[in-house]
Amino acid sequence: MNGDQKTWLNSLTAEALEQFSEDMMAAAEHDEDKERQRFYEGMAVASKLAAMKCKGEFASIDEILIHHVYENMKMLNMAERNGMSSTAKESANERCSFCFRKKQRLARGPFASICEDCLQFGLQVIESQK
Ligand SMILES: [Zn+2]
Repeated sequence: MNGDQKTWLNSLTAEALEQFSEDMMAAAEHDEDKERQRFYEGMAVASKLAAMKCKGEFASIDEILIHHVYENMKMLNMAERNGMSSTAKESANERCSFCFRKKQRLARGPFASICEDCLQFGLQVIESQK
């Protein structure tokens, strides 16, 4: 349910999200599987953005940061096109930005969408670090 996801996200603090973002980047650096690296990087970008949103930084967001986010998302999209089968060329609208699977239920953010499975995965990672 979208409602459940929203509750879940709202219960996270900006600090927890920033920590999660850093952990995801570290995970990406230490993982040799390209697909998982992309997943971790996507999660890092998304959680960083969510952290900034929590802290209300979107009103005064640095344009350079927006540029970096766009560049990252472009790289992710290119990786998707280069690295995956022809199914990746179908309409990207309803795809999860992190696992690239087509999903009917997605939480949509300004730069990315995330499916229930990926949200659950994120929650498990956070829980495992408590
Ligand atoms: Zn997903």
